[in-house]
Amino acid sequence: MTLKPLSRNCVEAWSCAAVLAAVSVLVTVVDPHQPGHYPACPFRVITGWSCPGCGSLRALHDLTSGNFPAALNHNAALVIVLLFAVPLWLRGLRRRDSPRRPVPSGRAALVLVSLLLWTVARNLPSLRALLAAP
Ligand SMILES: [Zn+2]
Repeated sequence: MTLKPLSRNCVEAWSCAAVLAAVSVLVTVVDPHQPGHYPACPFRVITGWSCPGCGSLRALHDLTSGNFPAALNHNAALVIVLLFAVPLWLRGLRRRDSPRRPVPSGRAALVLVSLLLWTVARNLPSLRALLAAP
């Protein structure tokens, strides 16, 4: 029996999964709700505004603890991204021998515009209570 070498896509997919798993274990063990364990967001420190990632560690902790509503409360964008990213990751693993295709520029622009709108929306005073900025 001969084992095929792993493709670059497969190595990258499993590397991303390993990093996400390690971060998940860390934020599960070291609760980001308790102050002093993690550095503050530099964007928030400098500007006073929430960046698209603010609240992600708490959201991930809440997800790993099974508290889905709290995760949405801390960073809904992270929860939504994970809901889309995990199926894409699994699909990428199934296609591990196919050549890598570049991300269509329209999709990349959509992601960037979505992150920009998310950042603006979560910093608007009128939406802050609704979007539960961290
Ligand atoms: Zn931030």
